[in-house]
Amino acid sequence: MAKKKKLKKKVIYIFVTILTLLCLGSLFGIKTYQEYKYKQSYEYKLIEHGYSLENAKRLLKYYKKDEEIEKLLSIPRNDSILSLIEQKYYIHNNLERYLAYMDKNKTMDLKDVITMVNVNRDYEYYEHEIPADVNKENLLIVNKYYKLSDDFEPKNLVTISNKYAYDNNQITEEANDAYISMWNAANEDGYKLIVNSSYRNYQDQEDVYDSIKQSKGSSQADKVAARPGHSEHQSGLAIDVFEINNQLTGTFKDSPAYQWLQDNAYLYGYIERYPENKEDITGYSFESWHWRYVGKEVAKIIHDEDITYDEYYAYYIENQA
Ligand SMILES: [Zn+2]
Repeated sequence: MAKKKKLKKKVIYIFVTILTLLCLGSLFGIKTYQEYKYKQSYEYKLIEHGYSLENAKRLLKYYKKDEEIEKLLSIPRNDSILSLIEQKYYIHNNLERYLAYMDKNKTMDLKDVITMVNVNRDYEYYEHEIPADVNKENLLIVNKYYKLSDDFEPKNLVTISNKYAYDNNQITEEANDAYISMWNAANEDGYKLIVNSSYRNYQDQEDVYDSIKQSKGSSQADKVAARPGHSEHQSGLAIDVFEINNQLTGTFKDSPAYQWLQDNAYLYGYIERYPENKEDITGYSFESWHWRYVGKEVAKIIHDEDITYDEYYAYYIENQA
């Protein structure tokens, strides 16, 4: 009897031991597995890359896509990235360019770094040529980087009636309709607008540019004229507009008609293309008379956010594509 009891005890003992070992083993297994899993996580990888736990968490709140985080891991740790991503117009594709630009412009505001790189100012004018995407139609961009081909001609060009313009001025039909609505509204407020320049083809622009280049050299020509293919006037979406009593480029900026355009043009789909104090962004001197048709919806965003078309295009068009 005693023997049987002893045996039973032994069996229970063995059973409990095995059970305990199994439990410990699987607990250990789970822990090892969890550790293994964590080491696969981006949080762990970012910490290994040099970021603090807090910064790794912040980066992961912003970056959701694998390829974005992989890119972060492929460049040296840089805590400035934490500040860059908080900027409104931050574009992830430009990250390495922002960092390089910051390196060269150490005292520059982060906001300005974002702006300048977004509009390609980390490249020299005319040394980073991008074909203008004419499929964007009203939203195409032309500047010192984006170029129209020599045979590009806008569709639906119409001649602006000489009630609203000097002779032989052409813009696209849609831009013309919008201009007439704007003209009527300005007229009701006491301003008679007049267009004195609009569509220019590639050849015209080449002639203008070359004649200045021949007489004054190319650096002077670049200051006052766009190179052929780089003039917004070739798009058929730009007008040089004055008021019948204020038609001088030097003083139009001080006229109430200019003020009227600044306050109202966006309601008709027009934007000021080369505003004052934005020369570094647009690449052009302030031109109070040069207005560009983009359509009402886009004009309102540009007006409300007080950005240039170059900034709009980089962030809202190219970045979203
Ligand atoms: Zn112009």
